[in-house]
Amino acid sequence: MKRTVVITGSTSGIGLGIARAFAAEGANVVINGFGDAAEIEKARKSLEAHGGKALYHGGDMTKPAEIADLIASAEKTFGGVDVLVNNAGIQHVSPVEDFPIEKWDQIIAINLTSSFHTVRAVVPGMKAKKKGRIINIASAHGLVASPYKSAYVAAKHGILGLTKSVALEVAEFGITINAICPGYVLTPLVEKQIPDTAKARGITEEQVKTEVMLRLQATKEFVSIDEVAQTAIFLASDAARQITGTSISIDGGWTAQ
Ligand code: NAD
Repeated sequence: MKRTVVITGSTSGIGLGIARAFAAEGANVVINGFGDAAEIEKARKSLEAHGGKALYHGGDMTKPAEIADLIASAEKTFGGVDVLVNNAGIQHVSPVEDFPIEKWDQIIAINLTSSFHTVRAVVPGMKAKKKGRIINIASAHGLVASPYKSAYVAAKHGILGLTKSVALEVAEFGITINAICPGYVLTPLVEKQIPDTAKARGITEEQVKTEVMLRLQATKEFVSIDEVAQTAIFLASDAARQITGTSISIDGGWTAQ
């Protein structure tokens, strides 16, 4: 039986990498997110190269009804959801006193609340099958903070709480839920915050990379998209059945300090 994997925010960056990794194993994948329609269709088609089917759903992760429809569409098309990856996320960098209120609300909605909505929608189907895997893409910022990222850090700490609480509720139904906490990965999300961080700290963009982003990554290297994707593959495997309610860091040693 082919597994069906739903990945939120998977038209770009880490989410698309995770979709590619599951598709390479022959899974059916449901991708989601924004972007150019022709590029999304190209990505969707390429995900079918290994025998699985790929469905695109454009649901906005700030809208509960659209999130419910994403999961309902996956269940209707493929007969259930075996793996849910909550990955959609945005960032905004600003001192707290200037932080736009609507940006705070949007970050909490996409980076935290959308996972409550996807989880509540998939759990009944997973409980019925007595099997399921939920993987939340948190961040090193789910464990430690940086200045000027109050909403993001709050949301990512929140997702670790959701992970622990739900793990206890579903543990006896063969369902695991865990978080992955990557350090800096060079994706569009990170590229976009370089100019703002440079402005907020009064330094150059190159200094943002070396002195801010990689300062605490002891390896002095960015994490790769595929390294995050392969960790998701492991957490979705049978070998990981006793891993639940926890987080795995992939941060080049950042949070060891
Ligand atoms: P990205 O900007 O490349 O991708 C984000 C994805 O989310 C895109 O597909 C985008 O269309 C989608 N998205 C944004 N708003 C949405 C909405 N309202 N509804 C549906 N989809 C929406 O970013 P990324 O770096 O690949 O980040 C993916 C996840 O990884 C995020 O949760 C991010 O916080 C986390 N993360 C990233 C890094 C990093 O360094 N890049 C580090 C740790 C954690």
